[in-house]
Formats: sequence, structure tokens, C-alpha cells
Amino acid sequence: MTLHDELLASNARYATEFSAGALRIRPLRQIAILTCMDSRYTAQGVLGLSLGDSHVIRNAGGRASDDAIRSLVLSSTALGTRWCVVIHHTDCGLLGVTNDELRARVEAATGVRPDIDFLPFEDAAASVMEDVAALRACPYFPPDYEVLGFVYDVTSGLLRDPRALGRNRL
Ligand code: ZN
Repeated sequence: MTLHDELLASNARYATEFSAGALRIRPLRQIAILTCMDSRYTAQGVLGLSLGDSHVIRNAGGRASDDAIRSLVLSSTALGTRWCVVIHHTDCGLLGVTNDELRARVEAATGVRPDIDFLPFEDAAASVMEDVAALRACPYFPPDYEVLGFVYDVTSGLLRDPRALGRNRL
């Protein structure tokens, strides 16, 4: 079976048990989550949220990139979210690497050196606090918009307060 056929067969099974068709577009809990694309967790699972409760914006590292901010601003302004939860995590692929190393890997694989800032970082607690600060300073959210930050430990399943974590303690 090709991947294409396998995915369609899986979706057909999914649809037989599907019951979320009546959910509204505005997230019920008014929460938007910004987190990494890592395959070892789901944002809703980590926070105990259900379908329909929150938006989830995922990218490499869970960084507050221009495109993440684009989504979060629309999430807030158009769809009523009032909280943003930023979650970075231990053992992230962007942890402890440099843009030069990442660009060299792309160049080795493709022959083209990309002009991309991959937004790598040295410390998950520091990076999540940096992104929380960037979002709090963003002028495109209303005054009562709140931004929280956590570090998710992929080995224990626990969220940690980044303010309580020193450099390299994870
Ligand atoms: Zn990651």
C-alpha cells in the first residue's frame, strides 16, 4: 500500500468515529498555543485541552517568528483568543546548533546554501522567555492579552516554569 492509500484508509476510519463537526471556529478556551513541531507530544495533550479549545501554532522550536506572530495576531483579533501559551522543550533539534551548521547541512543535501535564520538557541528556558518577552512587546495584541511560557520535558511529560530553570539544568 502506498502512503497515499494508507493515509486515505486511515482517514476513512477516522471519519467513521468523527464527532467534532458541530464545533465553532472560535476556540472555546480562548487559548492559542505556540510550540515546536516535535513529534513526541501534542500541545493539547500536554495541557489537557480538547479539540475546539485552542489554536495551535507549531514551527521548528516554537519560536515567535514573523509567521507565528501573523497567526497569533489573527487568532486574537479575528477569533477571540486572550491567552498565548508558548512551549519550548528539552532535547529540541534547534538546541545547541548554529545557523552556520544548519545552512551547511542544507547545502550538503541540496547544493544550495539557504539564506534562512533557523532561530536556533542555546537554552530552552532562555529561548522561551525571550519569545514570551517578544510577544508581550508586540503592539498588535490588545492590552489585556496575556502570554505564558513553559518548558516541556520530553522525558517526564512535565511542564516546567522557565524562570525556575537555570541555564543547562535541563
Ligand atoms: Zn523542538
